Amino acid sequence: MDSKEVIQQNRDYTLFSWSVQSQANPIHIAGGKGAYFFDGDGNHWLDFSSQLININVGHQHPKVLEAIKKQVDELCFAAPAFASKPRGELGKRLAEVTGLAKSFFTLGGSEANENAIKIARLYTGRDKIITRYRSYHGATMGSMTASGDPRRWAVEPGIPGVVRAFDPYCYRCPFGKQPDWCHRECVSHIEEIIQMEGPHTIAAILVEGITGSNGLLVPPDDYYPKLRALCDKYGILLIDDEVMSGFGRTGTYLATQHYGIQPDIVTCAKGLTSGYMPLGAVIVSEKIAQHFENTMLWGGLTYSSHPVSCAAAIANLDVYEEERIFDNVNSLGHHLGQRLEAMKAKFDCVGDVRYIGLFSVIELVRNKETREPLAPFNGSSPEMQKLAAYLKSKYIYAFVRFNMVWVCPPLVISQEDLDKGLDVYEEALALVDDLIKA
Ligand code: PLP
Repeated sequence: MDSKEVIQQNRDYTLFSWSVQSQANPIHIAGGKGAYFFDGDGNHWLDFSSQLININVGHQHPKVLEAIKKQVDELCFAAPAFASKPRGELGKRLAEVTGLAKSFFTLGGSEANENAIKIARLYTGRDKIITRYRSYHGATMGSMTASGDPRRWAVEPGIPGVVRAFDPYCYRCPFGKQPDWCHRECVSHIEEIIQMEGPHTIAAILVEGITGSNGLLVPPDDYYPKLRALCDKYGILLIDDEVMSGFGRTGTYLATQHYGIQPDIVTCAKGLTSGYMPLGAVIVSEKIAQHFENTMLWGGLTYSSHPVSCAAAIANLDVYEEERIFDNVNSLGHHLGQRLEAMKAKFDCVGDVRYIGLFSVIELVRNKETREPLAPFNGSSPEMQKLAAYLKSKYIYAFVRFNMVWVCPPLVISQEDLDKGLDVYEEALALVDDLIKA
């Protein structure tokens, strides 16, 4: 079968996510190595999106492949009522790296958030969950309702009890302030929401450690300490969704570790196995774990704690440690930040750049002074489409959404490859500058 036939068969017999099917335009992926994947026609693509911001250790890492093969030979499946070696070992490793106590394993991030919401409700006996508008928490009914971004519109009214707040989006502050003189209204307005909703009705505040697909919003340094204090004041749990921002993407296991706070519950997936096997986790604090010692945990999944997924995760964590991947993230992240700042200074269309580790975004504007977005919220524009097409024509695989383009390569990328991709981004931005001047 050639690539055209593979794509046609995929289109004839399968449905593509988040797509009007007739407009789906998939690449036939046939292989990969490190920061590159190969298409069926033999082209090498530089993966500046780490697939779905998950293949952190890069494509086809031999140590993770080996661990999967070994576990398949030893024991391929165990029902979730059984104990298995990889399950216990992974639970212990996750407790160590997060400072929390126990893990409940799922198949991915959506299910992790679904179960985190359920656990928070069971633990507190309260119903409501506060989430933020610029957020994505998954595509199952509860997680999709909990998401703030437009993807939730498709399932509304969704599950009851979700209340939304604004985000720490300093470039377009919803309160019209600047971070150097504001009073952190992005936190204080949440206290007002808590009072209006009734503190005794609110189980948890669910936030992405660092908001990913809604614009990479890096909060001010005191945002999390203030949010943590608010949760403590009202007995509300803090659920930290680290599905995208966790496991090395920002140079730490959890993005919230940069801020010196401890969440009550962490959800993770993606970088937990670098996507090699499907796996998510809800990691809970000691006090929540203790609660379920004598109370039923109303939840389960046939594939919870899948031995092969757990083995893949352990090997993936080993790679992070043995190959000192987070050191690479921190040093290359510094270089990436410098290059992004230079782009902001150089190109009229670059309104803002936000970055931490190898997690970054370029926000494009039509006018630097007015900050008019280059594409509307939840929409696109000819200029953004041209930028995306240019990157694609140079075999750079990038995540482009609304008026933003992300730079999130595998964490094993070399500086040479990072620069190679960023050079192409600069060519694309020059093209956009010409278009907006014309
Ligand atoms: N939470 C965040 C922050 C995400 O970015 C995603 C997916 O992109 C999810 C949850 C959902 O994870 P999954 O697609 O594995 O269900």
